[in-house]
Amino acid sequence: MPRPIRALIDFLALQHNLSIVRKHARNAQIMAVIKANAYGHGLLSTVSALKSADAFAVLELEAAVRLREAGVDHPILLLEGYFSTEDLVVADQYRLSTVIHHKEQLVMLLASKLKNKLNVFVKINTGMNRLGFTLGDAVAALNTLRSHPTIGNITLMTHFACADDPLQKIEIIEQIECFSVIQKKFHLPCSMANSAAILRYPETLADWVRPGIMLYGASPLLDKTAAELDLRPVMTVTSKIIAIQHLALKDKVGYGGHFQADRPMRIGIVACGYADGYPRHAPTGTPILVDGQRTRIVGRVSMDMLTVDLTSIEHANVGSIVILWGKGLPIEEVAESAGTISYELFCALSSRVETQTIMNENQ
Ligand SMILES: *Cc1c(COP(=O)(O)O)cnc(C)c1O
Repeated sequence: MPRPIRALIDFLALQHNLSIVRKHARNAQIMAVIKANAYGHGLLSTVSALKSADAFAVLELEAAVRLREAGVDHPILLLEGYFSTEDLVVADQYRLSTVIHHKEQLVMLLASKLKNKLNVFVKINTGMNRLGFTLGDAVAALNTLRSHPTIGNITLMTHFACADDPLQKIEIIEQIECFSVIQKKFHLPCSMANSAAILRYPETLADWVRPGIMLYGASPLLDKTAAELDLRPVMTVTSKIIAIQHLALKDKVGYGGHFQADRPMRIGIVACGYADGYPRHAPTGTPILVDGQRTRIVGRVSMDMLTVDLTSIEHANVGSIVILWGKGLPIEEVAESAGTISYELFCALSSRVETQTIMNENQ
């Protein structure tokens, strides 16, 4: 029998979350962001649930090729563009769209002979200072692209640094103002909003929205829970109790003996550790569900196991079902306790954890 840890992927929850995006996006087209193996949810199964999206966005060229080879016909955007002229040949062959964010990419493009028209998203750096042309460079780049014979549609794009935080509205306004300088000059279709901006700043919806995290049912906003936004968790990581220990007062648990019992305790050993993607930094007190009841992890997370307090869950025993995050336990709570964000937990899910798509919400 395999180890009991599983990641259950709720197909209907993905579709529900897409409908919530659709509701907020109004007339904007939806480019579902499925980079990093669909945030750990599995590329092809996620795409099959999200067929009614208008386009998909990835970073990994191999993922884009896999989608085409699986028969996905939607527009597919490479979010970091291409890294070599060879990549451009592949993008051309598989009819991929690409971000262009840097002069070097323009040089590669001008040196290539494309067979088909290439649709491009020109990324403008409006203040995040990660990827994108400055306003000055963007004008030159856009003029070059517009006169290039094998460039098809051109879309303007930018990315927000602080849309999650209600206290950082001023940063968003500055980014929008910066972007509008180019918008006014070129009158091209535009794309700005990630999940947080879709929900918080309708003025950023433009022609294409780029939701990621909200499709997977985690809240992109610091001041609202997923439930408040009517988003449903897609991934539920579950495992089982595989052993029980009884601690006397002052007994310790796990590596380093960091946790010491302050009374007699019953401890459950869960088949889930950092090699499965559970954060090693999750401290004593991080929430976890055992047989549907909320309790806490105690002691250090080890590679393949972690330990939970069962003192108040008397009926729990070997074989009891554990939920690490997902239905009944929002991933944001676990992430916050571990000093990280839901995105990182999703993406860290290890390939040794089998994912299972479920079609029925009651399963
Ligand atoms: C990852 C990414 C997104 C999606 O962001 P979420 O916060 O997950 O909605 C959108 N745009 C770009 C450029 C990205 O890299």
